[in-house]
Amino acid sequence: MVTYVYDFSEGGKDQKDLLGGKGANLAEMTNLGLPVPPGFTITTEACRQFLRTDDTPPELTEQVTKHLDLLESTMGKRLGAADDPLLVSVRSGAAASMPGMMETVLNVGLNDQSVRGLAAQADDPRFAWDSYRRLLSMFGRTVLGVEGFEEVLQEIAAGRPDTALEAADWQQVVDAFQQLIREATGRDFPQDPREQLDLAVRAVFESWNTDRATLYRRQERIPDDLGTAVNVCSMVFGNLGADSGTGVAFTRDPASGASGIYGDYLQNAQGEDVVAGTRNTVPLAELERIDKTSYDELVSIMSRLESHYRDLCDIEFTIERGTLWMLQTRVGKRTPGAAFRIASQLVDEGLIDLDEAVRRVKGEQLAQLMFPQFAPGTDLRLLAVGMSASPGAAVGAAAFTSEEAMARAEAGEDVILVRRETTPDDLHGMVAARGILTARGGKTSHAAVVARGMGRTCVCGADALDVDVRAGLFRTADGTVVTEGDVISIDGSTGEVFLGAVPVEHSPVMRYLEGEDARDELVDAVARLVDHADSTRRLRVRANADNAEDAARARRFGAEGIGLCRTEHMFLGERRELVESLILADTTEARQSALAALLPLQRADFEAIFAAMDGCPVTIRLLDPPLHEFLPGLTELSMRVAVADAAGKAARRDVKMLEAVKRMHEQNPMLGLRGVRLGIAIPGLFTMQARAIFEAAAAHTSAGGDPRPEIMVPLVAAVQELELVKDDIQKVAEAVQRETGAPLDFKVGTMIELPRAALTADAIAEVAEFFSFGTNDLTQMTWGFSRDDVEASFFPLYLDKGVFGTSPFESLDRQGVGALVRTATEKGLAARPGLHLGVCGEHGGDPDSVHFFHELGLDYVSCSPFRIPVARLEAGRAALMDPAISGPT
Ligand code: ADP
Ligand code: MG
Ligand code: MG
Repeated sequence: MVTYVYDFSEGGKDQKDLLGGKGANLAEMTNLGLPVPPGFTITTEACRQFLRTDDTPPELTEQVTKHLDLLESTMGKRLGAADDPLLVSVRSGAAASMPGMMETVLNVGLNDQSVRGLAAQADDPRFAWDSYRRLLSMFGRTVLGVEGFEEVLQEIAAGRPDTALEAADWQQVVDAFQQLIREATGRDFPQDPREQLDLAVRAVFESWNTDRATLYRRQERIPDDLGTAVNVCSMVFGNLGADSGTGVAFTRDPASGASGIYGDYLQNAQGEDVVAGTRNTVPLAELERIDKTSYDELVSIMSRLESHYRDLCDIEFTIERGTLWMLQTRVGKRTPGAAFRIASQLVDEGLIDLDEAVRRVKGEQLAQLMFPQFAPGTDLRLLAVGMSASPGAAVGAAAFTSEEAMARAEAGEDVILVRRETTPDDLHGMVAARGILTARGGKTSHAAVVARGMGRTCVCGADALDVDVRAGLFRTADGTVVTEGDVISIDGSTGEVFLGAVPVEHSPVMRYLEGEDARDELVDAVARLVDHADSTRRLRVRANADNAEDAARARRFGAEGIGLCRTEHMFLGERRELVESLILADTTEARQSALAALLPLQRADFEAIFAAMDGCPVTIRLLDPPLHEFLPGLTELSMRVAVADAAGKAARRDVKMLEAVKRMHEQNPMLGLRGVRLGIAIPGLFTMQARAIFEAAAAHTSAGGDPRPEIMVPLVAAVQELELVKDDIQKVAEAVQRETGAPLDFKVGTMIELPRAALTADAIAEVAEFFSFGTNDLTQMTWGFSRDDVEASFFPLYLDKGVFGTSPFESLDRQGVGALVRTATEKGLAARPGLHLGVCGEHGGDPDSVHFFHELGLDYVSCSPFRIPVARLEAGRAALMDPAISGPT
């Protein structure tokens, strides 16, 4: 027989999946001997069963009865008994904390009789009627779906605060609430205590599938089929007078990570009053004055919990007539900065070791600490708080349409695009804007997905804002009006929206990474944990850097080489003209002279990069994009020629260029003449690049340096392609060696970015000395997606419909693209043991993907300079979480 019900004394903190977070921790505290009011937990399995069959499992009723009997005999009272009732709370609690589900119902067991029994027992009618009205409103709202209790209460209170209402007033409120329930549901509030209990349990199960809960799960990527547990807990009362009260506490400051005791306390109050904010709480420290015995006990329990959980705990407690009761604890949420500080403090306090500290902080948290931030101490006027959709701090003039955003940006203004929600039509405005603010939509809305893809700061779902695009303004909850052109500031890491220009500055962590001497406790903690990650990781970390400046920054950030140096930018700017000549060349001489002109420029670029990365490997990718990308656009050129023609003086070069552009036009440039195909089709192009690399290396060696070039051939699908190119490169190397006399040490390898390359990796590895997985193209080619097109058009829909939980461009698709990476790795290593393997797509800086690459046994990841610290940390965490290395954690 399946056990659906566990007593608090039967479980423990590691049973979150079965007992939910709240239930598992109540059990843990019970078994630690802490004062937890007795009770039991109905499992998530019972909920899953309910959701599958639309009914509670048949055994459940009996099992609840058994545990209720036990509870009644422990407490020496019977549920809802008329003379001296046992009362319970019915509390939802899933494995992951989940706002949006049913709240708790307190005081279950009260009815028209037992309310009098409670009054007599407590010798306090006011308390009893207050408790009953709470049951009626909580039960009425969450179980019966009735609204309007607050209004009824306000009418009766007629301006008096809760504390001024007497027993008779509460009794009147109770009558009115019962009336409201009767009118709204057509039946009386259930007087049978067990019926109350059973209905409340069902309501908790049902709340798993409310719109709000479903939406929240989708946003937080929590699976839909986990279900929630239900905790039935005997009531203790904080509303029994001045020697009673309720509060919340943190064992450290969850905002800053500072050690010490934080929290709020409210005298003579029950349950949600603290969080509801209807009455003013006092800082927890005041409790020492109010009730020193309880305070001391609480402080000692807090330190016990912290050493037991070895982490920051948050706590809910209640004091009933001088007796302290623990109602909840869990390892508390914290800001990214607090996460690093607390992990480091716990190491100092001997509670955890450095390995554990590194496992506890996340790459994403480090990334947050590196973003520019609003200068502290500025007088900020908060307009609203939305969802943190894409991090960073952005300041600009509000623009309400894409056109307006583009116009202002073109005029040199910083712009924040403000929309109710964005659609694919807003793309140009989003590109032009510094940041994006929407009033609707969650973390998978169009705005959020596209902004993250572009690296734009974004706050979405700020639903307190009333955006009126027609009028070109938005209104805040307090009536402030912001119109087109007014400056606002948004913080994509916190979701905050401010009025005016808030000064933006580098974060201390960024200043430290850049080499400034800006140490404080946070920076020290970050340095300590990242250094430790470095000492444990197996994956090396390289940078995607195309110039000496990026290379130098990458090195400061800890890069151990360049994994991807793109050469296309070396063909832009003033050099474009040379590329045009190359394309327009109709004789061998003309082509060679264009290439010869490019050679010294490329050589100088490489020399600077070798100098910045002296002693480290530098992987240089030969030219990848289609050549026509370097020519003017067809429309622009046609116009130019047409206008000139009309004036009878069209330049010969333009006319030739127009012909070339027409000739080279491709329907699908991504699948056209690019990568290795260019190298084969345009004689001399790749050999010129190879010569520039070798000459630069020779020069750097002569100057006493240590260059380590690795030449990477893009878009190879067949080993034959690579063979052709490698032969040419080899010849150039021999020639340069002869000419300069300098020894050349280099490798030739390929990107694996086409499914065919992955599937024939054994053959390719016979020729390639290294593989670098170009996971951006590999994702595009595997899914048949053109990133630029799909992200902005139907990705939000796909995320919404659950086709995937995360964009495969953000986090590597393990099943599909990952399978190709795995296959290529295995085949490559079988053909060439010791084959060097890396990743150069953006996934190289994505935490989840880094773990996957570690598991596959790759040698390094390469990512943009700003993601390097994140990749270092995550590579260390991957090693520390790897059971093969550290044992299960
Ligand atoms: P949440 O998940 O929203 O915190 P809880 O189940 O913890 O919901 O309950 C809401 C409030 O009711 C909390 O303040 C909690 O401490 C209080 N509460 C819950 N159960 C009891 C009880 N048995 N006795 C007294 N207060 C309780
Ligand atoms: Mg709540
Ligand atoms: Mg709680």
